[in-house]
Amino acid sequence: MSSLFNNYARRPVHLVKGKGTIVTDDKGKDYLDFTSGIAVVSLGHAHPAIVKTIQQQSEQLWHVSNLFESPEQETLAAALVKDTHLSHAFFCNSGAEANEAAIKLARKHTGKNTIITFAQSFHGRTFGTMSATGQEKVRQGFGPLLESFKIVPYNDKQQLEAALDGDVAAIMLEVIQGEGGVVQIDSDFAQLIADNCSAKGILLIVDEVQTGIGRTGTCYAYEQTPLRPDIITLAKGLGGGFPIGAMLGTAQLADSFGPGTHGSTFGGNPLAVAVAQTVVDHVFVQDFLQQVEDKANYLMEKLRNELPQDRFSIRGTGLLLGIKCEDEVQPFIQQAEDKGLLVVQAGTHVIRLLPPLTVTKEQLDEAVKVLSAILVKKPATQKVLN
Ligand SMILES: *Cc1c(COP(=O)(O)O)cnc(C)c1O
Repeated sequence: MSSLFNNYARRPVHLVKGKGTIVTDDKGKDYLDFTSGIAVVSLGHAHPAIVKTIQQQSEQLWHVSNLFESPEQETLAAALVKDTHLSHAFFCNSGAEANEAAIKLARKHTGKNTIITFAQSFHGRTFGTMSATGQEKVRQGFGPLLESFKIVPYNDKQQLEAALDGDVAAIMLEVIQGEGGVVQIDSDFAQLIADNCSAKGILLIVDEVQTGIGRTGTCYAYEQTPLRPDIITLAKGLGGGFPIGAMLGTAQLADSFGPGTHGSTFGGNPLAVAVAQTVVDHVFVQDFLQQVEDKANYLMEKLRNELPQDRFSIRGTGLLLGIKCEDEVQPFIQQAEDKGLLVVQAGTHVIRLLPPLTVTKEQLDEAVKVLSAILVKKPATQKVLN
């Protein structure tokens, strides 16, 4: 009997080693890891620069309290907001914590309660972020939830406008709903949100926990939309596998998060910050981001060529792609694993591809070959009767 709570539907694979895009199980079988630990291992497994950072920093200093100043956090914050309209950072340890910070800051700054979020969104598993999440399966059995989250259908302009009464502190959204099925925001919907936020003084929180740090071919996914968020939240890819989260915000919001308002014991400790700095130094480079975009275009085109378009639609941006299938995808996930390709489900009908940003074109080719073999059933050869 397991000594673990049964809250994960674990696959019976014990991974013990990783290098780049390849992970190896305890029986010595190699897999292409197109999960990246769910968009986490952005530079691939055991990237030499990260290994070196952890070695050096762990000999130097792992942890000090936020009671003391941190030039290292300052440097990382400056790198994260560079070339954006954002200016301040708060560091924590996960996506849910980053979103908690955003929800608290939005309420405190505006003095208003309501936060509008969207159906099929995912923002985390704490009480606040679960209340913000627009998926019943995440919320079920945990009520009563935090009040005053209004969940509106995604990309529904009419219903959004109807929800915008005087008590709205913030609108919180993902530019691409990752867990919700790799669903992108429509550009006219994004424009409507941008217009309303600036006209009515509503704060805009963009949850970039999955889409941020180069995943979509730009530093942040909102850059490819008309949105100009007051707050963005980061985690997953930021630490390349080491736990760290962050909330970035505009200068206007700074006074609302004064001493004692919010905090985290581990948040922004020297080891996590050193690793995140290494990740950002590699990813926030024009040439690197261009390669992500090129590889993403390559992968998308290959999938569109290989998979019949009447049965499969390819969606997403960058290296956050979804294959929407007619059938439920659960069996495909298993078949891919048998053939040495690890992929993630998003909803019941979407296969999500999240390779490390460092994936090679050859590895993309290999993954497409496996997916095509699984998904494209050859029609049974007709018997010729005569
Ligand atoms: C994964 C995810 C979260 C939650 O992150 P945790 O680190 O698991 O708390 C929040 N928002 C989005 C968009 C995510 O994909």
